[in-house]
Amino acid sequence: MTQKKIAVIGAGAMGLVCAYDLLKAGHKVDVFEQEDRAGGMSASFDFDGLNIERFYHFVCGPDYPLFNLLKELSIYDRLKWTETKMGFFYNGKLYKWGNPLFLLSFPEADLLSKLRYGLHLFLASKRTKWRDLDKVKAIDWIKKFVGSKAYDVFWEPLFRLKFYEYSDNISAAWIWTRIKRVALSRKNIFTERMGYIKGGSATLFHALTANIAEKGGKIYFNNMVRKINIRNGRVSGIELKGGQFKAYDFVISTIPLPYVADIADDLPGKISEKLRKINNVGVVCVILKLKSKLTENFWLNINDSSIAIPGMIEYSNLNPLKEQILYVPFYLHKDHPKYRQTDKAFIDEVLSYAKRVNPEFSEDWVLGQKVHRYACAQPVCPPEYLKMLPALKTEVNGLYIADTSYYYPEDRSISESVRLGREIAESIVKES
Ligand SMILES: Cc1cc2nc3c(=O)[nH]c(=O)nc-3n(C[C@H](O)[C@H](O)[C@H](O)COP(=O)(O)OP(=O)(O)OC[C@H]3O[C@@H](n4cnc5c(N)ncnc54)[C@H](O)[C@@H]3O)c2cc1C
Repeated sequence: MTQKKIAVIGAGAMGLVCAYDLLKAGHKVDVFEQEDRAGGMSASFDFDGLNIERFYHFVCGPDYPLFNLLKELSIYDRLKWTETKMGFFYNGKLYKWGNPLFLLSFPEADLLSKLRYGLHLFLASKRTKWRDLDKVKAIDWIKKFVGSKAYDVFWEPLFRLKFYEYSDNISAAWIWTRIKRVALSRKNIFTERMGYIKGGSATLFHALTANIAEKGGKIYFNNMVRKINIRNGRVSGIELKGGQFKAYDFVISTIPLPYVADIADDLPGKISEKLRKINNVGVVCVILKLKSKLTENFWLNINDSSIAIPGMIEYSNLNPLKEQILYVPFYLHKDHPKYRQTDKAFIDEVLSYAKRVNPEFSEDWVLGQKVHRYACAQPVCPPEYLKMLPALKTEVNGLYIADTSYYYPEDRSISESVRLGREIAESIVKES
């Protein structure tokens, strides 16, 4: 192996894991991050003395790449598991949810619809192959099995309030992996079990950044990459926001794909064309610190005509904290007019929803409030999504591009970021 000079763009989970493995293999690695901290989507912030993720994060039973990394970094003991509860707020009433008995006793759907819904989830959790689902639209797949009535009660808001105009063209394979990941996390069919990292994702990022520094890697925070330079079919380096050019043998971009076309304007036309066709939804996430529990649930599914979100996440019912933490995500395309609403408008909306879910809730329960936004929070994955993506190892020598899209058919998760970050590092090690 000859030692190479490598730039990684983005200090999220994928970029840091990739840098860590490349350093272990003996390469010289610099990481460039536009923000002042590591973590990207899973970064944390100081919530009036509580260090916590900007967006909710939980761990599932099949997240093996993450488990292996935690072991390697000697922080596996920070992984904790909780038997969590789920709720369903349907037309003004809160129901217990998440096991077959609760489903059967739910009064707002007929028995056949409930059986079809439950059986669909059960069979999806047992399925192992996804190629045939890759050609199918998720709504068609679900409706065909559960029927329109069950779809309207149990599924419709999730699609409408997360994917809006894209709802009709989401891949069934992608929805299937979401069902399966959560289902395989269960202790048994009656008990849901979810994991979290003590100290949050920050625990992982502290360990990763410390290991990177120890191995001689450098992370340049507050350093936005403005351009990826390409010369004669080969990557030559990067240009920073201030105009400084730095030469590299390899450049790995882990930033959201829609931004890559803007900073790599010398890419071959067909790659840029593909990149510009990738759609993402953004997220505006309200986080409240409360003095009492809103509900007993970790996850609350919602189907209620007066509530414009498909769910709320009461994180402290998974990870017990001194105060209650409630995340309320609004998934919106960044060009949706609502995305530009003020933080206060989002908070006021959430307060009215909290009151509807728990009539005892009052604003004096709120000890802290904050709103975070991420413009590319979730790639929109239509059927046969992989065909839409340019190759991860691009035809430009030395240039790799990846974001959460490449987890397909898996949904975004820290564990998938770890897996892919490691795969990219391995591919470069083989090349050099
Ligand atoms: C609302 C929400 C909830 C989630 N819930 C979970 C969950 O429960 N469990 C789970 O496992 N995962 C969850 N995820 C997914 C998880 O956070 C992601 O899969 C993971 O963090 C992605 O890491 P990444 O490194 O691939 O990308 P990112 O985190 O997006 O990292 C990309 C980095 O690139 C930086 N960047 C962008 N442009 C530039 C530039 N020009 N120059 C320099 N730097 C740049 C960004 O600032 C960012 O730090 C959730 C994500 C969101 C948004």
